[in-house]
Amino acid sequence: IFIALVGVVLAFWFYSAREDFKPEILQEKRVIVTGASSGIGEEMAYHLARMGSHILITARTESKLQKVVARCLELGAASAQYVNGSMEDMAFAEHVVQEAEKLWGGLDMMILNHIGHTYFSYFDGDIDHIRKLLEINFLSYVTMTVSALPMLKESRGSIVVVSSLAGKTRVPFTAPYSTTKFALDGFFGSLQQEMTIQNANVSITFCVLGYINTESAVKTVSHVMKVAPAPKEECALEIIKGGVLRKREVHYPRINVAIPLLLRDWAPELLDFLTRYSLSNVEQIKHQ
Ligand code: NDP
Repeated sequence: IFIALVGVVLAFWFYSAREDFKPEILQEKRVIVTGASSGIGEEMAYHLARMGSHILITARTESKLQKVVARCLELGAASAQYVNGSMEDMAFAEHVVQEAEKLWGGLDMMILNHIGHTYFSYFDGDIDHIRKLLEINFLSYVTMTVSALPMLKESRGSIVVVSSLAGKTRVPFTAPYSTTKFALDGFFGSLQQEMTIQNANVSITFCVLGYINTESAVKTVSHVMKVAPAPKEECALEIIKGGVLRKREVHYPRINVAIPLLLRDWAPELLDFLTRYSLSNVEQIKHQ
């Protein structure tokens, strides 16, 4: 039975891997990308620019956003603007969406990608840090969604939520971060079901990512990861494709995410063991 089930899952997996993505679909489309001053968000902005989209990017660091906007214009963006501020502040989260409305009078896609700074270590008991991270990584996503839904309903648009394996499985040393990513799954999963019941025609794509070679991730976890990180450029493109194709979920790197998700419900203890086994130098973490 197990082999038959694995066969069915693999067949479904190969079937769902068939894609019909045409970059020109994004030409002149109005897209918000959060957390786009670095890492995967920055790469998404460059892909969208090459595809000729109107782009509004956001993060805290103005000097970095200015550079990304300039590069987007060089690459062929229909237009590129930024708003800088912190997603700790819900008024700012609302302001970003209002800015899109002011600029374009509508919105086609909203890519929620930013994360606040956290530690990779044993949970230190700091509840205020969890509260703050929930605001940045979760509540600002909800706030932006509430503000953007009227425009997205009108355009039959898409919401793309960038999450992590740590938002689907048990990963040690990430308790505050993992909390916020699991919260995203709960909220956006429920919302997606409601949209379907209401025939709202706004797609929600939930992106489950493994280890990606962004500067911040490499700096934080490279000393403990046994696997090599996947390229941020390809990751960024897969997220955009998933949004355009209105996929339910994007898994990247595909196999590194698909296997843990399969094991999660069928062999949870084995997955817990493999997750711990994928980390080296755990002793080092103890003494941080
Ligand atoms: P980065 O650290 O490279 O980028 C984070 C972005 O968020 C930056 O633009 C940063 O800009 C912005 N940001 C940080 N704090 C705030 C804040 N308070 N308010 C507003 N913006 C803020 O992250 P990655 O590119 O590595 O990750 C992108 C997404 O991918 C995240 O959702 C992450 O969880 C997910 N992911 C990444 C993995 C990886 O291995 N890289 C693995 C799994 C998931 P600034 O500091 O200027 O504000």
